Amino acid sequence: MSTPSDSQPPTPNPQPPVRVRIAPSPTGDPHVGTAYTALFNVAFARHHGGQFVLRIEDTDRTRFVEQSERLIFDSLRWLGLTWDEGPDVGGPYGPYRQSERVEFYQQCARELVARGQAYSCWCTPERLKRVREEALARGEPPKYDRLCLGLAEAQRSQRPDFSPRPVIRLRMPSEGETSFEDVLRGRISFQNALIDDQVLLKSDGFPTYHLAVVVDDHLMHISHVIRGEEWISSTPKHVVLYQDFGWELPVFVHLPLLRNRDRSKVSKRRNPWAVLPWFRGQGYLPEALRNFLALMGWSMPDGREIFTLDEMVQAFSFERMSTTSPIFDLEKLDWLNGHYIRQLPLDELTARTLPFLDRAGLPASQNVAYVRDILALEQERLRELAEAPQMVDFFFADRLVYDPRLLVGKGMTPQQTLEAIKATLALVETIQPFDAPALEAAIRGLTGQLGLKTGSFFMALRVAVTGRTVSPPLFQTMAVLGRARTVACLKAACDEVAQMG
Ligand code: GLU
Repeated sequence: MSTPSDSQPPTPNPQPPVRVRIAPSPTGDPHVGTAYTALFNVAFARHHGGQFVLRIEDTDRTRFVEQSERLIFDSLRWLGLTWDEGPDVGGPYGPYRQSERVEFYQQCARELVARGQAYSCWCTPERLKRVREEALARGEPPKYDRLCLGLAEAQRSQRPDFSPRPVIRLRMPSEGETSFEDVLRGRISFQNALIDDQVLLKSDGFPTYHLAVVVDDHLMHISHVIRGEEWISSTPKHVVLYQDFGWELPVFVHLPLLRNRDRSKVSKRRNPWAVLPWFRGQGYLPEALRNFLALMGWSMPDGREIFTLDEMVQAFSFERMSTTSPIFDLEKLDWLNGHYIRQLPLDELTARTLPFLDRAGLPASQNVAYVRDILALEQERLRELAEAPQMVDFFFADRLVYDPRLLVGKGMTPQQTLEAIKATLALVETIQPFDAPALEAAIRGLTGQLGLKTGSFFMALRVAVTGRTVSPPLFQTMAVLGRARTVACLKAACDEVAQMG
């Protein structure tokens, strides 16, 4: 006989829900590495039906940049990497800005001090500098010498180099090792004796990164800390803090660093392009940049290089993540971007390109249908939307500027060129319909009649109507320019050649 409990579903998965976060510091333009980390956090969270949290780590007031937070929000939204909880959207574990959470950190630091796991340090910066330099001179790790450990303020104030505004330091174990498992790298161990007594609370009462990150990841129920490998050496300090607080460790995943071809780190200092607003301004499509970042150290099970965020989410696993630092190759990004541009429906391409043309001073928004026709010709060649203005500006020019010698093709005299352009002009003024097939048939016909070489003749016409030697297909260009503009260009070219004598 079955009881009601027999028909109950099996015990739910005991794993805690997946909750991940990125924690950028608003210290300037957001680094492309922030998007990289965000992408892998998002992919992991969405794959597991978990939550992605955006936390702003703004406790370093000396490096705080006012506009930076907004730029982080805008850039990540532009990339489609949206968060479930954050300073602007709220959530159950807020506030999500560390500057608004200072009491939590102070309280936690006080607890550690009360338990002897942290201590106040009143040493002046000058003394700390001296201690560091002396240790280095002896060939030892530059650690704090624990002068203040075990002293009360009154005792310490009797000694030199006393500052009335103390910091709080973590009391690191002096022996043994601290280890943790990294999903990508396995077990990583550090000798405690080499690790400094990290400052947790600064003299201004603000926490350092190390205290704040641990307190917040715990209070925000972060299950997996997925961040860049530059934080590996900080992790043992965090592990000691988790142990001191008696909190459960999150799972750690340290992603490889993005590197240049010469293996140097992609950094804002070295690579001025390495900030998210640059990619946007250059006209990279968010879907292309996202796809490109997904290929940095990760691959699809079937090895395909072009895929959407949803496809990545579906297939996501850290098993196919490599720890070898991926090379950030802008040429590959250009290739991908070109691919995504070619895939865009023409109306969409037009909508996305208009702001670039407007910003360059071209009357684009007033002439959307014209821009659409122009982009139909350029879509194949366009690799970044910011290239569009200089590719298409001749379509808007009242008078083209070029070297008239370019009009006179190989094996042609100025006189022959003039006659050829005049003949074309006569034809173009009356031809019906004014479209590419009709223009091509008629103008090709002239080649034979006038005994011209096609290459030289068409080059003269190309220069005449575009002002350049490389352009979209000639007859389609004329058709888009329209009769009036084409006629004006050909007349102007006649004047130029006539003046050459
Ligand atoms: N605030 C750190 C950063 O700017 C966060 C590091 C971490 O994810 O723990 O990258």
